[in-house]
Amino acid sequence: MTPVRTAIVTGAARGIGAATARRLAKDGYAVAVLDLDEAASEAVAATIRAAGGSAIGVGVDVADAEQVAAGVARVADELGPPVVLVNNAGIIRDNLIFRMTEADWDSVMNVHLRGAFLMTRACQAHMTEASFGRIVNLSSSSAQGNRGQANYSAAKAGLQGFTKTLAIELGRFGVTANAVAPGFIQTDMTAATAERIGVPFEEFLAHAASQTPVGRVGQPEDIAATISFLCSEEAGFVSGQVIYVAGGPLD
Ligand code: NAP
Repeated sequence: MTPVRTAIVTGAARGIGAATARRLAKDGYAVAVLDLDEAASEAVAATIRAAGGSAIGVGVDVADAEQVAAGVARVADELGPPVVLVNNAGIIRDNLIFRMTEADWDSVMNVHLRGAFLMTRACQAHMTEASFGRIVNLSSSSAQGNRGQANYSAAKAGLQGFTKTLAIELGRFGVTANAVAPGFIQTDMTAATAERIGVPFEEFLAHAASQTPVGRVGQPEDIAATISFLCSEEAGFVSGQVIYVAGGPLD
């Protein structure tokens, strides 16, 4: 019997991360639910355990090197060496460029880019040692440019280059790296955008659905299903790719 493998999902206390943690647990992984708030992470982990899975909640700020090192060490100790990493933690600090502050810029770069770097660096030794690893980074359709998101689109485009480089460096150790770039997904993040621009969320969702070829907005489970495939054994020849999961074509 194959031993249970351990997966880490960051930003997994809600939204896409929580759906991914649940999905990977169903796929048979022991899952570490990482998020800023340990209690919120543990609440998701408890629902996974209640459904028969194996999970722990761990409080980690992915932009903090010491917290990352301690959190990954704890996961390795309590669940086993993490060989699957989903860099999902994210924030938005939207503003048109003339109003964008340095803090808006730095905080977005720190969570998305520095966070993915620190988490990957901390996990890769476990993967190379196991001669197996799966890294999935959350990019976005905004990587192609989006009004009010100079910081976020730069970070999400940066994650695509990061992903391709990981694929080149780590491939010979049995480690793949891919990026999933969601379109509009119904989560607290998109609800916050609707609130910021003063549009009722239902109206915002209906508009987004009307602009999407499949005629609906995405759900966190749509993204989790794609990540599940990329983390599977059979996806071992898919690496360095950016997969848009957006209900229609994007390059
Ligand atoms: P969400 O509902 O806002 O969830 C993001 C999670 O990340 C939150 O639980 C948040 O914690 C956590 N987080 C933020 N900063 C963190 C840090 N420094 N360390 C650890 N955890 C942190 O977002 P989502 O919509 O599920 O998005 C998940 C990912 O998909 C993000 O990378 C996002 O950019 C990307 N994405 C989303 C969409 C979409 O339409 N929703 C589209 C494209 C890409 P707090 O709650 O404590 O802040």
